[in-house]
Amino acid sequence: WIEAELAGLSPEETEQEPDAGPLPVVAVVGRPNVGKSTLVNRIIGRREAVVEDVPGVTRDRVTYEATWRGKRFTLVDTGGWDPDATGMALRIAEQAQIAAELADVILFVVDAGVGVTDSDEAVGAVLRRSGKPVVLAANKVDNQQMELEATGLWSLGLGEPHPVSALHGRASGDLLDIVLDALPETPPQTFGERRGPRRIALLGKPNVGKSSLLNKLAGEERVLVDPMAGTTRDPVDELVELGGTTYRFIDTAGIRRRDRELKGADFYAAMRTRAALERAEVAVVLIDASDVLTEQDLRILGLVIESGRAMVVAFNKWDLVDEDRRYYLEKEIDRQLVRTPWALRVNISAKTGRHVERLAPAIERALQSWGTRVPTARLNQFFTELLQATPPPVRGGRQPKILFATQASTEPPKFVLFTSAFLEETYRRFLERRIREEFGFAGSPIEVTMKIRE
Ligand code: GDP
Ligand code: GDP
Repeated sequence: WIEAELAGLSPEETEQEPDAGPLPVVAVVGRPNVGKSTLVNRIIGRREAVVEDVPGVTRDRVTYEATWRGKRFTLVDTGGWDPDATGMALRIAEQAQIAAELADVILFVVDAGVGVTDSDEAVGAVLRRSGKPVVLAANKVDNQQMELEATGLWSLGLGEPHPVSALHGRASGDLLDIVLDALPETPPQTFGERRGPRRIALLGKPNVGKSSLLNKLAGEERVLVDPMAGTTRDPVDELVELGGTTYRFIDTAGIRRRDRELKGADFYAAMRTRAALERAEVAVVLIDASDVLTEQDLRILGLVIESGRAMVVAFNKWDLVDEDRRYYLEKEIDRQLVRTPWALRVNISAKTGRHVERLAPAIERALQSWGTRVPTARLNQFFTELLQATPPPVRGGRQPKILFATQASTEPPKFVLFTSAFLEETYRRFLERRIREEFGFAGSPIEVTMKIRE
């Protein structure tokens, strides 16, 4: 954990996610009262999910982390999603749709005693279309005599029904074996297992000090100049060692060349910036602290935002800023960077070398945020608590709910919220702020999108 602590993570966080990889998701779907929660309880081996005889009872937790035969996975109980019993058949089909979108494997539970109902048919149709692996559980097969009932479920067209009794635990281990066999193989991700050095785009308007900074950073530590494969002249990347780690600075030929002397320089500069960002993971944007923020600075910041890359903003020429102005400048900078309050900031002087050593840790932090994945179970626990404390504003007499949240991707981190109704812009911004407060993401953009289920 020492390494993790240096990187700004608490040991506790490391423990929760030792391999930094996402856990596979198993979603349990089926109509109310077929025994989904009973089955979930059996799988997680705790009596945590509330089981009630009332169909459609509210349950406040829907995701659990489970382990079976040493394999960890996230279990989603869709039974906890919708306490509203009206228009049930439709809703169940929609829940199945959501489950199909987010899960790696779907465990479809049907009550073998009751047999196939219209709702089961509707769910079955959704699941067949999804293309996701489906394991069909014929529940409430409490004894051998009842096994015959299970065969009726072949008609769903989802393959073999697996008889099980969630209540008594009958064959539930066999069922889990089948579920886990259906999971896609995901090789565990480990730290440090990346392809090549991390890639940095060093950006900024002409004369802001890019070449000076590069020279300062590379100095005697310059490793080599590395022509990009397939080209004989620019762009040329430079490998630079900072604090013991080698980084690839993208298109340093473009930095060293005097683009500003060319005709149509702005256009080419923007193209180069875009191309460099395309290949980079993190942008270091230089801004002249001794001058006002210009159109050109804003354009570059805009290109970085558009690219979804991690960002460090370096205010250069800090040596030219006198003591009195520094305080006011900090305030002014806050205002100037309203669109990117998450960007990491350092105040440097490429000329004197002031605080240049702070760049590498900022770059590392930004990259780490950019690649962070929040485990699904933790994310949902967070939202459950957050929504209890601060529910979204009621619209048209209805309280919008977040049914389920998942992080769909990293680099940059993207979150998808499955909601029962539209969430106001201000509430979405509030959620984004709280996500940042809870999970970090300094130096990285994050995206929060909604998928509305009426
Ligand atoms: P859910 O609405 O699908 O989550 O269903 P629950 O887990 O709440 O179960 C509904 C009812 O079915 C409860 O009374 C359970 O005790 C009962 N039940 C669940 N599994 C079985 C089973 O395998 N056999 C029998 N006989 N009853 C079961
Ligand atoms: P580029 O066009 O972004 O590559 O900028 P250069 O590195 O060529 O720098 C432009 C001018 O600014 C040069 O005269 C540098 O000496 C000067 N310069 C760069 N960084 C600093 C700094 O931190 N402080 C001061 N005072 N001058 C700087």
